[in-house]
Amino acid sequence: MQCSLCKAKAVIYRKYEGRALCKKHFLESVEKKFLKTIRKYELLERGDKVAVGISGGKDSATLLYLLSKFQDKLGIDVEAILINEGIQGYRNLTIPYAEKLASKLKIPLHIVSFKEQIGKDLDEMVKISQKEKLELTPCTICGVFRRLLLEKKAREIKATKLAIGHNLDDEAQSILANYFKGDLIRAARLGPKPHVIEGVFVQRIKPLIDIPEKEVALYALLRNLPVDFAECPYAQGSYRWDVRELINNFELKHTGTKQNIVRTYEKIMPCIRESLPKTINRCEKCSMPTSRRICKACEIKELLNID
Ligand code: SF4
Repeated sequence: MQCSLCKAKAVIYRKYEGRALCKKHFLESVEKKFLKTIRKYELLERGDKVAVGISGGKDSATLLYLLSKFQDKLGIDVEAILINEGIQGYRNLTIPYAEKLASKLKIPLHIVSFKEQIGKDLDEMVKISQKEKLELTPCTICGVFRRLLLEKKAREIKATKLAIGHNLDDEAQSILANYFKGDLIRAARLGPKPHVIEGVFVQRIKPLIDIPEKEVALYALLRNLPVDFAECPYAQGSYRWDVRELINNFELKHTGTKQNIVRTYEKIMPCIRESLPKTINRCEKCSMPTSRRICKACEIKELLNID
């Protein structure tokens, strides 16, 4: 197949655009989309210090590469944070890729571990949860503590933005998962620049939100970024996994489904955000900001008997 723009050999056919692209035009197009997303949603300002959550996987590697490539143009400083949840046979294998990338790009990398900060690895917490027959999935435990530690580290290094590698597929999955669960509060916290109470949380941003997962992976491959393509052993069987399968099957039959989910959500987002609490409490245990009396992290620690 030939590139629709220059007749060179195509590396991808974008069904949703009805055109094929060669390596050069594909890489350019991803970079244009990335910069356009930043402009359109005003994700960054000159002088921002951006903490990038990385994992050694394709999404965060592409995000770190792009932010580093355009950091002078955007007038920003970039540092990376890696959360080591303690997942044997997975995270210990992805960390060297993240270290290699950060060193190649000359970006400072901060590694924070569950074991040091929470007192237990994710694997240990999952074992306790299973033994005690708690209704806590590995992804719930992981997500809550990972968010907490990313936030803490981003504040510690005085970051003004916290960039995460959510791609179009991730966003579409999060939107549908929250609808399916009827979780309006969580649904209200999605979007390219999720709502945060200013001065309380570091503003999260998702510069890859318009790029499909497959294209993020292809970009990382074509740029030869050090990336581990392994899947987390806890991913299969999770709620998100089921939603992902469902959306992928739909996309196969109905091109543009993922874009439609995200675009439609954007239109109704202002209404959904109205439902968010306007004030924030402090957790009675750890004094971290929360909309509840006791924050989710402290609640999980209590359930798992962690001091
Ligand atoms: Fe954590 Fe679940 Fe993602 Fe694994 S799949 S890294 S457990 S959120």
